[in-house]
Amino acid sequence: MEKPCQHQQLVENDLCSVTYCPDCGSVDLNLGSMTLHLSGRQLEGLSEAFNKAVARKRTLQQMQGDGELLGDSPSKELH
Ligand SMILES: [Zn+2]
Repeated sequence: MEKPCQHQQLVENDLCSVTYCPDCGSVDLNLGSMTLHLSGRQLEGLSEAFNKAVARKRTLQQMQGDGELLGDSPSKELH
């Protein structure tokens, strides 16, 4: 009865890809061997949550002076 979903790729990078089926509105988030089946609404909610999480993580790292992702610690003033 169900016709196969014709997923269209929305985005792809080296970590994940996101595909979307316009017919039923389902979104698949492919993370390596793991696939999350989402609704469009869930995708938008996750996107919002990820954006906030990334921003807060960066803020915390800056507060802690953690330069691990920068590959170099911020210059420290010598007194
Ligand atoms: Zn579908």
